[in-house]
Amino acid sequence: MVNCSRCGNREGLSLVTIPYQEAAGAGRILVYCRTCQVDMAGQLGETIPLGKVSPGVFLDLYRTGKTTSDPFTACELVFGSVKPDLVREAQTLMNHIDRQ
Ligand SMILES: [Zn+2]
Repeated sequence: MVNCSRCGNREGLSLVTIPYQEAAGAGRILVYCRTCQVDMAGQLGETIPLGKVSPGVFLDLYRTGKTTSDPFTACELVFGSVKPDLVREAQTLMNHIDRQ
């Protein structure tokens, strides 16, 4: 069951990233409905409609350093269940990111 991380709404959901620091790339992955996206617009990094979030898109967020969210939690939020292979792959990608 996937719903808005902020208000629990189940419609109009998108994956969003909320940068830990202003203007710094990496953010926390959450799922927001349209209303919450509007409310929080100034704080969002990436916004991707949930219907477009494939495992590949999810992994790209880790590959490109756009998130450092715990993959276990993020996977459950976004896909509604933990996919062990996907979580493992995301963890591997995070460990390979060149941290400067
Ligand atoms: Zn909401």
